[in-house]
Amino acid sequence: MIDVDNDKSPFYMTIILPVFNDAEALRQFLPQVMAFVAGLPNRQQIIVVDDGSRDHLREVFDASLVTCPQQIQLQLIRLSRNFGKESALSAGLAHASGQYVAMLDADGQHPLSVLQQMLVMMQQQPSIDMIAGIQANRPHESAVVKTFKSSFYHLIQDTRRYEIRPNAGDFRLMRQKVVQALLSLPERQRFMKGLYAWVGFETVYLPFTAQIRGSGESKFNFGSLFELALVGITSFSQRPLRLISRMGFIVSLLAFIYGCYIVIETLLIGNDVAGWATVVAGIMFSTGIQLVCIGVIGEYIGRLYEEVKQRPLYLITESVNSDHVAFNQNSINQTGIDAQASINNQAISNHQDISDSQDTKETKAVININEHFQ
Ligand code: UDP
Ligand code: MG
Repeated sequence: MIDVDNDKSPFYMTIILPVFNDAEALRQFLPQVMAFVAGLPNRQQIIVVDDGSRDHLREVFDASLVTCPQQIQLQLIRLSRNFGKESALSAGLAHASGQYVAMLDADGQHPLSVLQQMLVMMQQQPSIDMIAGIQANRPHESAVVKTFKSSFYHLIQDTRRYEIRPNAGDFRLMRQKVVQALLSLPERQRFMKGLYAWVGFETVYLPFTAQIRGSGESKFNFGSLFELALVGITSFSQRPLRLISRMGFIVSLLAFIYGCYIVIETLLIGNDVAGWATVVAGIMFSTGIQLVCIGVIGEYIGRLYEEVKQRPLYLITESVNSDHVAFNQNSINQTGIDAQASINNQAISNHQDISDSQDTKETKAVININEHFQ
C-alpha cells in the first residue's frame, strides 16, 4: 500500500547518513543502502552529510556517483567543519524531501533488515508517524555508563507530556510531517533524542541489535556523551534549578536549627569558644554547595548564551548531487527558523553567499563534474 500522505514528494524515501571520518565504513555500507532503496517504488534520495571529515570520503562519494542508478538521487552535503552528529542530522533533515525519511549511522551498525521492517509497518499502518529503533542489548557498556545513563533519563523525563525512551537513538523512520515539525524547532542546542519526543506524533519502538561497525571506531567517548547529556538536561529539564533552590532551603533550615542549639547551649552552660572545627566545616560545606549551585546556574546561562547568539546550526561548504543541480557556496544555510519558513511554504532562503571569485571557479568545477555524469 502506498502512503497517500504527502504524496507530492519528489522522492518515496530519503535516507540520511551522517559521516565523520568514516569513509571506509561508508564505502562498505553505501552500496547496501543503494541496493535497498533500489527495490522501492518511484525515486529515492540518499543524503550523505560530511560532518567535516578529514579522510577520503570525497573519493568514496565520487566513486558511488558513477554507479548510482537514475532512480536514486545521491547527494553529498559537506559541512565546513565538524559540527557534531546532531547538527549533521539537522542538515540532512533540512534537505530530505522523501515521503518517508530514515536516518542511519554510516558505519553500518543500523541493520537495513530492521529498516525494511519499519517501512512495512508504516506502509501498513497510516496512523504510525515515526518508528524508532531501540538498541536491545548493549554489552559493551560499562556499569558506570549504564548508571549515568539511567539517572540521566530519569532526570530529563516528563512522562506527563512526553517520554524520552532510554536507548531510542537516531535510527528512525518518519513521515515527512515529522521532519517538518523537527525543522520548525529553532533551538541551536539540538538534543535530537529529546526533540523527537517533544514533537510527539504516533511513535512505535522497535528493538534491534546493533551490528558490528564496518570499520573504524566510535566517535563518542565518555566525555562527549557527558557533554551531550548536559545539552539534554539543560534543554529538557529545569529540575537541577529546582533542586538547588530546595537544597538552599534545606541548608538554611539546618543552619537555623544549629543556630538555635548554640544559643540555647550558650544560655544554659556558657560559651568557652569551643567548636571552631564545626564552624570551619560548616563554612567549607556551605561554600562548596554555593559553588555547585553557581556552576549549575552557569551551565544554564551558558546554554542561553549559545541560543541568543543565533548562530546557524552548521555551514555548508559544498553540495553535490547526482541529479546535476550542484552548487558550491560557502553559505550560511539552514537554521531552524528557515525551516519554520519552509513549513509555511514561504520558501524563504537565508543563503548568504560569501564566496569570492575563487569559489565561483570551484562552483563551475563542481557543475562540470556533474555534467560528466549527465
Ligand atoms: N558522526 C558524525 N559526526 C560526529 C560524530 C559521529 O556525523 O561528530 C557520525 C558517524 O560517522 C557515524 C554516526 O555519526 O555515522 C554514529 O557515530 P558513532 O558510530 O561514532 O557512534 P556510536 O555508534 O558509537 O554511538
Ligand atoms: Mg556507530
